[in-house]
Amino acid sequence: MYNNQSALVLHSGGQDSTTCLFWALKNFKTVRTLCIAYGQRHSLEIEVAQAIASEAGVPFQVLDANVISELSDNSLTNHSLTMDQEKPSGSWPNTFVPGRNLFFLTFAAVIARSHGIRNIVAGVSQADYSGYPDCRDTFIRSANATLNLAMDEQFIIHTPLMWLSKAETWALADELGVLDIVKNRTLTCYNGIPAEGCGHCPACKLRNEGLKLFENTK
Ligand code: ZN
Repeated sequence: MYNNQSALVLHSGGQDSTTCLFWALKNFKTVRTLCIAYGQRHSLEIEVAQAIASEAGVPFQVLDANVISELSDNSLTNHSLTMDQEKPSGSWPNTFVPGRNLFFLTFAAVIARSHGIRNIVAGVSQADYSGYPDCRDTFIRSANATLNLAMDEQFIIHTPLMWLSKAETWALADELGVLDIVKNRTLTCYNGIPAEGCGHCPACKLRNEGLKLFENTK
């Protein structure tokens, strides 16, 4: 039988998934994290995720899914590519890793199932991002239905950030009482610099602009 009070959080050590981890801790009795190593630029991400999970007092698991990096050419896993700073017209920036969230959710569901967990939490948002297709609500709902059918289960994928802007995501961290942890301990930067990061990559721009907006409206 499932324990409705447990959740598995997909956790990368970044701002969004860390906010989701603390959201889950508020909403579920027990929480565990899953960090997927898919050949991203910086293995420091995994250490950061582990340190945050340990501070939050939740079990931490790393899954080696490096094969994802061999499937497509993208600048997050192919370190010889120069990262697109903007979304090119008519296509995705080369930071897009095709299929990534479908793989992640499938891994998460299988692992959740093995722990008797039906709630899966993912920090995706379609509000003010480059709009990757696998961050959209339609995709998440469809993946949820597919995973339920694939395993004859009743998973619930929670996406607390889906409709939040970056500034609103900072406000949520504040509401959860973890603004300092999210601000100082997470790693969002594509250049692998924790906290406020390099300041000029697309991830830093989004994060820092959102923070400024949040602080100005507080
Ligand atoms: Zn950066």
